[in-house]
Amino acid sequence: MNKRLTTAGISLVLLFFAFIPAVHADSGKTYEVGANNLNVRSSPSHSAQVIGQLDNGDRVVVFQEAFGWVQTYFGGQEAWVASPFLYPADAQTSNRSAAPVSSASLEEITVTATEVRIRTGPGTNHEIIDHTSTGDTYSLVQTANNWNKIVLDDGSTGWIAGGMTDYNSGNNTTETNMDSSSSNDSQPHNTNAANGSLSGYNIVLDPGHGGKDPGAVGIGGVFEKDIIMNTVDNVVQKLRAAGATVILTRDSDYFLTLEERVRLNNANNTHAFISLHYNANPIMGINGVSTHFYAGGKDRRLATAIQSALGQNISLYSRSIIQSDYHVLRENSDPSVLVELGFITNPGDLATTRTNAYQNNVADGIVQGLVNYFNE
Ligand SMILES: [Zn+2]
Repeated sequence: MNKRLTTAGISLVLLFFAFIPAVHADSGKTYEVGANNLNVRSSPSHSAQVIGQLDNGDRVVVFQEAFGWVQTYFGGQEAWVASPFLYPADAQTSNRSAAPVSSASLEEITVTATEVRIRTGPGTNHEIIDHTSTGDTYSLVQTANNWNKIVLDDGSTGWIAGGMTDYNSGNNTTETNMDSSSSNDSQPHNTNAANGSLSGYNIVLDPGHGGKDPGAVGIGGVFEKDIIMNTVDNVVQKLRAAGATVILTRDSDYFLTLEERVRLNNANNTHAFISLHYNANPIMGINGVSTHFYAGGKDRRLATAIQSALGQNISLYSRSIIQSDYHVLRENSDPSVLVELGFITNPGDLATTRTNAYQNNVADGIVQGLVNYFNE
């Protein structure tokens, strides 16, 4: 499930996989992206064409550095990313104190005036998109003609006049997505969950895609919808063994609209809805598992419980929980999450997801995550 993936992208990935990696595979180092909406450009320049975007936690394989830029591949073509936003992937966990790829640290600026305008470009002729005031701090992306390009709260960027700001010293620290947000809506306490049992709980499992909708297409032409069913079989077995009542939105290879999936869920007395998917990205190096949720409170707590239990059970890279506006979550009247169980466009993830061990570990992780969630 990935909005950015196109059929053209898939073909390019497959072409890339077939012809290019042998040349570069040994020279590449993996780095993790530490910013949202980071532009991927066709050459190492801020004026070069934007050919894609990367988000916090995405991973890229870097083959060379030049002038504060690093070269990777995007959709099979050579692509460049500004290096201050990349961190060595082996320094993963949530601690971003490791040095970024270039020696330059990501600078922060603080606003020193009130009612300062944020504009779409470096100059007063550009449209005003927001305002900011004394004491607000931003990550600095770029400077031009005494204007600063900054990262706004929603991850987009804007420009602010240089005279209205001061530079901070030191590295910028990035928040992790896994902060434990305390929430007041408490789940009714159930002693079964405390015993590790899911008896009395109704779980709706939603295998993504199906029928005419293959979902993502991975390396070698493997379909997301097919890998999912194997996963779902394992999860159903373990949930039932733990005492849960399991309802499936689809149990074989047929098409089901998003509306039908939600209707099916909402018609039941559901305690948790879990949609299962595999991910894809034109950048082959991107890997890992993430859990998506729509709202704070129960949705977010369920996502946190499942992502963290998966992280303890599986060997794949644990990305984070992510707030996403997906239909099956937004329209859902029950606690609901969508889990992306690895990138089938990444050779390592794909090989792992095809093992029985992985499928078993995923099922264990989901059972454990639900037990922990109901037991909170
Ligand atoms: Zn999907």
